[in-house]
Amino acid sequence: MKRAVVCVILLLMPGRPVAPLHAHRQVPAFRLAENARVRAALEWLSHNLSWVNDTQARLTEIPAPPFQEEARAAAVSELLIETGLAAHTDKAGNVIGELRGANENEIVLLSAHVDTVFPAGTNVKIHREGNRMTAPGISDNGTGIAALVAIARALQSAHVKPERTILFAGNVGEEGEGNLRGMRELVDTYRSKLKAVIVLDGSGTDHVTTKALASRRLEATITGPGGHSWSDFGMPNPINALIRGALRFINTKLPAGPRTTFNIGQIEGGTSVNSVPYEAKIKVDIRSENEEELGRLESALREAIAAGVRDEMQPPRDRSKGNLEWKVELLGSRPGGELPANSPLLAALRAADEITGNQSRVERSSTDANIPLSLGIDAISIGAGGMGGGAHSLQEWYDATDREVGLKRALLTVLGISGDAEEKAR
Ligand SMILES: [Zn+2]
Repeated sequence: MKRAVVCVILLLMPGRPVAPLHAHRQVPAFRLAENARVRAALEWLSHNLSWVNDTQARLTEIPAPPFQEEARAAAVSELLIETGLAAHTDKAGNVIGELRGANENEIVLLSAHVDTVFPAGTNVKIHREGNRMTAPGISDNGTGIAALVAIARALQSAHVKPERTILFAGNVGEEGEGNLRGMRELVDTYRSKLKAVIVLDGSGTDHVTTKALASRRLEATITGPGGHSWSDFGMPNPINALIRGALRFINTKLPAGPRTTFNIGQIEGGTSVNSVPYEAKIKVDIRSENEEELGRLESALREAIAAGVRDEMQPPRDRSKGNLEWKVELLGSRPGGELPANSPLLAALRAADEITGNQSRVERSSTDANIPLSLGIDAISIGAGGMGGGAHSLQEWYDATDREVGLKRALLTVLGISGDAEEKAR
């Protein structure tokens, strides 16, 4: 057994250092890597890396702003159909390709979000230099969707027949105010059969997200009557009040642990330099390893905004010129959760790491995996290989060198948890 596995590794990873193997690790994933069809699927990936790069470039150049993912989702759907999978679009806008398993009552979901943070009109043209591509969204989540389609193609071209049904989903609504609506819909639809969820998000192979970071997104709005900068001077000013409140908020004391963070990510308001504005807003993202701290921080934001409004209404401001009103609204919330350390899904990932000679650390993060994890469904989020940086910026880049490891790692993890129908029958 041990020797056979080593042979497979050498076959898969020419020139790479081989991770030490332990005879006791005779988990199904290792037997899987010896299966001829699985090997053929892995070889398909090795031989089609430039196709994967080209597909990533092509999909990234189709704009997919929040709530406007249709065009890119349609392109992903077409690619899934080309592999021979039956694909459909659900009411949230997710595209789903199905590789039917011997056991249709159990489902493994492989997903990659198709949406980006970039608004409509952003230039998403790729700049390409060798293995390196630069464009908004190229890594997050161009890498994930290209891998999603590549893995479907590899399994189909090698005629792999899984034990559990595998669903390939290009999902909407991961970024910004999407509030994970795509993943919520998928989990809602398949919940009773769903055994594991593997989320492909961004690049790299150095981590596996098994802990869901709880987060909330809030919008604080202050409104007033508004007026003229000269003739209405003294009137309470919503922007002043917001600045006063925001300053109090960013001075909120955070605990040393559990790690808790906040970010004022957007600010807007006012109509012109010579007008007292009638409205001012901020959008705030708060995150914590602990739900209670999250609640405390949300309360701190409410108190700070209320105090900012109170301060602005103090003399010498002229209250007779109108009052300020304020509200803090919840735009979205991502629940926390954690994958048990003895989960078969984590074992499958660890086996895939070992087979590909990869090393990865467990991480806590806020991803599509939050939704299944919060409901007790096994889920992980992993990068899909290569290297990327500058996520959510216009300078976002991706380097495809070594992306092969990430693709194989993901494929082996999916098959490790879905199982192989032939193996099962044997
Ligand atoms: Zn992402």
